[in-house]
Amino acid sequence: MPVNVVSEWLNACSGCEISILNTGEALLDLLPQLNFVHIPALVDHKYFGQLGDGTTLEIPEAVVGIVSGGVRNTEHEHVLTEVRKKVKFLIALGSCAAHGGVPAQANMWKGEEVWDKVFRHCASTEPAPDPVDPNLPKWTPMCKALDEVVKVDITIPGCAPHPDWIADALVALLEGKTAWALPERSVCDTCPVIREQKSGGGPVKRWITNMEFNPEEGLEKMRCINEQGFLCMGPVTLAGCAGKHGVPRCIQARTPCRGCFGPIRKGARPMVDMMGALTSVGLDPKTVLDRRAVMNRYIGGHGYLAPLPARPAR
Ligand code: SF4
Ligand code: SF4
Ligand code: SF4
Repeated sequence: MPVNVVSEWLNACSGCEISILNTGEALLDLLPQLNFVHIPALVDHKYFGQLGDGTTLEIPEAVVGIVSGGVRNTEHEHVLTEVRKKVKFLIALGSCAAHGGVPAQANMWKGEEVWDKVFRHCASTEPAPDPVDPNLPKWTPMCKALDEVVKVDITIPGCAPHPDWIADALVALLEGKTAWALPERSVCDTCPVIREQKSGGGPVKRWITNMEFNPEEGLEKMRCINEQGFLCMGPVTLAGCAGKHGVPRCIQARTPCRGCFGPIRKGARPMVDMMGALTSVGLDPKTVLDRRAVMNRYIGGHGYLAPLPARPAR
C-alpha cells in the first residue's frame, strides 16, 4: 500500500523541488511506494478546494509532508500549520526550510527598512506605492525556519539539498524509522586538498583574484582555499553536498564553500568558529567584507541574524 505524501513550498525558489525530481532512478524505485496527493510544484492545486471553489484551505491527509522554503508571511504560516496538522512526519527540505536560507538575510533589517530599501527607494526601480489589497498576506516580523513555527521531524539541509539524502530520508521513513539526520561532519572533513595549517597571513583576500591551482592536476595537489588567503566556509559547514560519494560541490569546481548546508550541529556558532578558523591559519577575520551577512549567508533564521541596535549618534 503506497504512503501518501504532501509537498508544499513556502518562501522558496523551487530548487528543492528540482532536487526531488533529480533523485532520478532512486525516485523511480521509490515511486510505487509513494502516492503524491498534493504537490503544487508539479500539479496545479488550488488552496481553497482542488477547483478553487472552497472557502477554507484544504491540504489532504498524508503520512509524509515535505515542505521547502522558510516562513516569511502569514500565508506561509497558515499553510505550514495546516500541513503539520495533516501529516505524521514533517520533512523540512532545503536550507530555507531548515535555517531560513538566503531570504533570511533580510532579518538584518526591520520590515519597514526592507520595504524602504527594496520597494520605495531602490536605485534600480521606480518607487511605487505600497500594495494595499487587504487579501495580500502580511509579512511576518522575521523570516523563520520551519521549526521556529511547528515541530519538524526530519531536516534535509542544502541549497539545494542533494537528491541522495531525499531518497535516503524517504527510505528511512518507509522502513519505519522515525528519525534521520546527516552525520555531524564538516565540509573540510570530506575535502581532499593539501592543508598545512598556515597561510601567508594578513587580510582575507576578496574573491576577485584567482586562486592558485593547476587544472591538469587533481584536487589532492591543490592548496586549501583558506590557506591561500580566501574565505572558505568549509570548517563550519555540515558535509553532505556531494551526496553519498565525492568531493564537496564547490571544491570540485575549485571555488570556496559558501556554507549552504548550514551549521554542523544545532546551536553551533558558525561565525565565531569561522573567525577562529581564519585566525588559526594566520588570517585577520575582521577583514572579511560584510562578514555578518557572508558568514550567516544561509542561516538567518533561529536568531542568527537580527536588526542591530541603532548606534548612538557621535
Ligand atoms: S534551499 Fe535553496 S534551492 Fe531550496 S528553496 Fe531555498 S533557495 Fe531554493
Ligand atoms: S577550508 Fe575549504 S578548501 Fe580548505 S579544507 Fe576546508 S573545505 Fe577544503
Ligand atoms: S561546498 Fe559548501 S556551499 Fe558548496 S555546495 Fe557544498 S556545502 Fe554548499
